[in-house]
Amino acid sequence: MNGVPIIYWIRRDLRLSDHPGLTAVAATGRPIIPVFIHDDLVATHGAAPKWRLGLGVKHFNKVLDGIGSRLILRRGSALDVLRDLVSQTGAGAVHWTRAYDPAAIARDADVKASLKTDGLDVVSHTGHLLFEPWSVETKTGGFYKVFTPMWKAVRGSDLDPALLPVTHLQAPDQWPASDDIKAWKMGAAMQRGADIVAKHVCVGEQAAQNRLEMFIENKVVDYSVARDIPSVDGTSRLSENLTYGEISPRSCWHAGWQALRNGKADAEIFLKELVWREFAYHLAYHTPRIISQNWREEWDGFPWQGDGDQTLRWKQGRTGIQLVDAAMREMYVTGTMHNRGRMIVASYLTKHMMTHWQVGLDWFEDCLIDWDPASNAMGWQWAAGSGPDAAPYFRIFNPDTQAEKFDKSKSYRAKFIKELFDDYGQEAQNYYRAIPRSWGLSAKDDYPSPLVALDIGRQRALDAYKNR
Ligand code: FAD
Repeated sequence: MNGVPIIYWIRRDLRLSDHPGLTAVAATGRPIIPVFIHDDLVATHGAAPKWRLGLGVKHFNKVLDGIGSRLILRRGSALDVLRDLVSQTGAGAVHWTRAYDPAAIARDADVKASLKTDGLDVVSHTGHLLFEPWSVETKTGGFYKVFTPMWKAVRGSDLDPALLPVTHLQAPDQWPASDDIKAWKMGAAMQRGADIVAKHVCVGEQAAQNRLEMFIENKVVDYSVARDIPSVDGTSRLSENLTYGEISPRSCWHAGWQALRNGKADAEIFLKELVWREFAYHLAYHTPRIISQNWREEWDGFPWQGDGDQTLRWKQGRTGIQLVDAAMREMYVTGTMHNRGRMIVASYLTKHMMTHWQVGLDWFEDCLIDWDPASNAMGWQWAAGSGPDAAPYFRIFNPDTQAEKFDKSKSYRAKFIKELFDDYGQEAQNYYRAIPRSWGLSAKDDYPSPLVALDIGRQRALDAYKNR
């Protein structure tokens, strides 16, 4: 088999370090043909994640070039593309890193079975998670539906060290043809927002490793407090890189543990956050309905409102509730939103506005450069109350109280809302450059009065939730 090429299907694993599948195929010494496929799953991504994925893929192509390889780009159904490549290159095997969201699992299962029937060697590898979803079980068997016991169960796990970067991939005698990524127009749906959000992206493995290092050196020491203040750059911001696999969760885990051993106690909370990401994937794996249906079926009859004029105002950051609007505008301008902001806007939409969490989930999927199918679904269902280990129905965030507590100086609101503050930030101005012209909004518009007053919305939600 020595000279027989292996196809390595790159997906959300745009890195050379701690990449078990890539390390394994590199070690065979056989020619490796890395391929990225713009398939149906990629086609259905929202505007921002698709655009950001395109940046990551383009960057990774250059990285592979640096080790004597390249990334072949193809568009079409994954199975058709892989079969085509096998017939063009004579490859005898196809490898990839496993994905755990239901849509990817269904696609991969079909591809695996079909290629095996064709007589190929098909291998999927670990790498996107710290713990395989079937490897963590409660004492009575089954998966964890509550976070804290899962955290306690995995906290002391002795994980293998992160793998060294792959430094060479044997090239085939002849490279198969590749598309030009420009022709895919992966940023098309971003329209004029792309230039604004571009200032906030941090693409590639090296950038991700720098982020981790910076976080561990300078930020983790204050993480327990700073992580809750949206105006402070107090978190790792690694979600953008973890979602495209530009850094492995295991590298983050070991860095967190090292910091903890070095006396930085807040690193424990960082480790815990990494396990929230695992929890989300374990839930998505074991109960795939979390992605698109109420995880708790008893919520199925709840009278949620749908999408409409009111939700447009929520999307635009014009609810008249300052902290909600600041957070919604942060997402439009930067492609991310502080975690506290995510919890507050989700609570306002699902509770004060009594709108279905799916509306919010879809909007986040369109706008977030760190969009992650599992964490997004878990976050929304947590906020709505329909998810596992969710906020109880009577826990309704009051955005004004939250602002008093976590944005006392008003600097977060001033950073993103122009109409209300003389000392507004550049991003507040940029918001009007990023939004679609069809919204017809102008920086000269008055700030709106509340769409749903906080006391009225709270009472209405409590009544509805109680009578559910
Ligand atoms: P840090 O505080 O530095 O945490 C380190 C890492 O831990 C993060 O990068 C992330 O991978 C993980 N993490 C932290 N908090 C959570 C959490 N609550 N759930 C799952 N993983 C977590 N996260 C996404 O990555 N993509 C999403 O699409 C997404 N959608 C969300 C939607 C809602 C409604 C809510 C409430 C939360 C959502 N989150 C999502 C979780 C969380 O807000 C982000 O992971 C976090 O803000 C990322 O910032 P950071 O990288 O600086 O996090």
